[in-house]
Amino acid sequence: MSERTKTCRSCGDEFAVNPQQMERLLASPAFAAELRVSEEQYMARLEACQSCSKFHGGTTCMLCGCLVPVVAHLKSKNCPYPGTDRWAVLAEHSH
Ligand code: SF4
Repeated sequence: MSERTKTCRSCGDEFAVNPQQMERLLASPAFAAELRVSEEQYMARLEACQSCSKFHGGTTCMLCGCLVPVVAHLKSKNCPYPGTDRWAVLAEHSH
C-alpha cells in the first residue's frame, strides 16, 4: 500500500492533469463515442485501478504512464498489469 505514494521516476507532480485539460482531451476525435467502452465498463476500470498498487496520484498508471481517467474510456486500451489484465477480468462480466 505504501507503494502508492512513490513518485514517478520520469515526471513530477507538475504533470498532473487538471479537470479542464482532461475535458479537452476527451472532446478530441480520438475519444469519439464509438471508440469508447460503456460508462459502466469505464467505472469498473477505474475501480480496478483504484485498488491497484501501480495506480499513482489518483490519475496515473505507473506501468504504462497512462492517465487512467482518460484512457480507460477507450476500447483499444488494455491494462498492462503483469500476468493479469485487470480490466479484461472486468470486461468478461460486462457482456
Ligand atoms: S491500468 Fe492496470 S496496472 Fe495500471 S493502474 Fe490500472 S489496474 Fe493497475
